Amino acid sequence: MRQSGCRWLHLDMMDGHFVPNLSFGPMVADALRPVSKELFFDCHLMVTDPRNYVKPLVTAGAQLITFHVEAAGEDSLNLLRYIRRQGIQAGISVRPKTPVSELKELLSSADLVLVMTVEPGFGGQKLIPSTLNKVRELVHLREEQALSYLIQVDGGIDPDTAPLAVAAGSDVLVAGSSVFRANKVRENVRALRKSLQGLR
Ligand code: ZN
Repeated sequence: MRQSGCRWLHLDMMDGHFVPNLSFGPMVADALRPVSKELFFDCHLMVTDPRNYVKPLVTAGAQLITFHVEAAGEDSLNLLRYIRRQGIQAGISVRPKTPVSELKELLSSADLVLVMTVEPGFGGQKLIPSTLNKVRELVHLREEQALSYLIQVDGGIDPDTAPLAVAAGSDVLVAGSSVFRANKVRENVRALRKSLQGLR
């Protein structure tokens, strides 16, 4: 991945409960860490009990842990602070149907806000265009409140949608299917980068 010009490795962890699919847990992050030393480890928890994953992921070398406000609910603010106390960055995420207003109290304690641009749980879906309005809203709130969180989008990002996501104000693009397509990671990343030329 590093050779392809990617700087972050986004690890989607699913528990078969918060989302119907099951992927992998902290042990896989732990196994990947020694062979991905130069990559920033970005862990996205699509799980019902995100707090239980924090310590094992920190031990495995996670540098950012993002969890869903729909999963943590009232514990979200405490959980963001708990993650930061481990000496790493903390992110908060929303599913397509959850409005940004659910995050208002959390924004000043988050290093990153992840806007799901598809329903979480499965790869290969098409980006839901209305979710980019949330990116615009988050750009506006960040400016208004003089905050510094990064805005990340995840789901359906390819050379067609990446320019739209960046134009809306996204700072970090997560791409899965479009990067691994046909096992041509280097070419696919190049195509993504090319689609963004001239933007920002
Ligand atoms: Zn993800």
